[in-house]
Amino acid sequence: MNVADSRQVSSALEQLNYQETDSAENADVVVLNTCVIRQSAEDSATGRISSLQGLKRKNPNMVINVMGCLVGVKGHQHLAERFPHVDVFSPPSDPGPLIAYLTQDESRALEEETTARRFAFMDEELPLPKNHSDQVTAYVHIVLGCSHACTYCIVPYRRGPERSRPVENIAMEVKSLVKQGVKEITLLGQIVDRYGVDLPQKPTLSSLLREVHDTPGLERLRFLTSHPNWMTNELLDTVAELPKVMPHIEVPIQSGDDEVLANMKRGYTTDEYRELIHRIRTRIPNVGIANDIIVGFPGETEEQFQHTYNILEELKLDVAHLARYSGRQGTVATRRMKDNVPEEEKWRRFRVLEELQKGIAAEINSRYEGKTVKVLFENKVRGRWRGRTPNNKLVFTETEQNLHGKVIPVTITWTGPWSMQGKVETRSKK
Ligand code: SAH
Ligand code: SF4
Repeated sequence: MNVADSRQVSSALEQLNYQETDSAENADVVVLNTCVIRQSAEDSATGRISSLQGLKRKNPNMVINVMGCLVGVKGHQHLAERFPHVDVFSPPSDPGPLIAYLTQDESRALEEETTARRFAFMDEELPLPKNHSDQVTAYVHIVLGCSHACTYCIVPYRRGPERSRPVENIAMEVKSLVKQGVKEITLLGQIVDRYGVDLPQKPTLSSLLREVHDTPGLERLRFLTSHPNWMTNELLDTVAELPKVMPHIEVPIQSGDDEVLANMKRGYTTDEYRELIHRIRTRIPNVGIANDIIVGFPGETEEQFQHTYNILEELKLDVAHLARYSGRQGTVATRRMKDNVPEEEKWRRFRVLEELQKGIAAEINSRYEGKTVKVLFENKVRGRWRGRTPNNKLVFTETEQNLHGKVIPVTITWTGPWSMQGKVETRSKK
């Protein structure tokens, strides 16, 4: 989400004739887009803000903007007091305050106009930032905020309540990005599969996928993150049916223990999750499934952790994003529960799952050896082209050809838990 927000800021700044520079020392404007999902992210954000103090002292004209979930949607007086060297604060997904600040000296009229536009940036057709003008993949917000309130999660407090963007605005942004050369769009929402429930026409994620599917030049569509409770068969069948929608589902379980899930207020049981994975696999051939897990939630016993281990071992999902529980300010878990799993124990559980998942992923990926898969290539990393398969496996290949933005059949020659290597099929042979 922050990647999508930062793109919007860069584009908006370029509209004001600012240019990207490679270091903060040379900058007239510094934008720090922040995440606070865990304490470590928050610490790194506040550390970076503090470290800008010296630069600001050397160059008092420098404009420092802090954006994102550290700021949140509910006021930032405490931050303004703590970081007086910051000139402007912006909530997530909203470059408006920065743009208003930068334009206020030039004309009062503009200030009023930009203030009115504050929440409308996403709905304008903005050129891609110059440095990203050749980007192959892009993120597009479809649902902002979240109203679910899992007990551990700070997102609803900082990104505000769930708001779906109108279909027309999303279609416009997709079209504009694709016209500029983007080949793959990932639609974003905290509960992306709830798209539309708050809109008057009640569009669904399925209907939205159909709506944008035929955008000329678009090669691939993905969406994330799904919540288990909202994954309808209609949605799964739409994914299976539409050729540009990739067989790739990100659907976090968070814990494999029913009591922990209830304490998290996730709203489903492990059996329901199992049934869902079965349903996804039955309806979407060759689907790649990714999952998020939190270890060390307040009160998580060794036995409850073991249940998480067991379900991961049983379901064998393609990817598991692992996190150690981190108490977040203002959440129900922080107010009412005791963060009683010691830090070393959280680490141990983390590593145990990491090791398990490494084995699972290695085994799943090894089945691709010798197979040919269609890869959309994005960029070159240390001499090798990097791309993804339909079910989101990372593939590297060495070739002299320019594969940028191309979908090409690749024969897999090596596999590991986190990536694969392959060679591009050359049609000239035999
Ligand atoms: N909306 C998505 C994910 C939101 S946050 C969902 O419902 O799953 C992304 C991931 O960060 C979560 O899936 C969770 O695994 C992790 N996370 C969120 N809050 C956390 C916390 N307090 N401590 C540790 N990990 C957390
Ligand atoms: Fe956070 Fe739960 Fe909303 Fe996901 S669904 S953003 S984890 S509150």
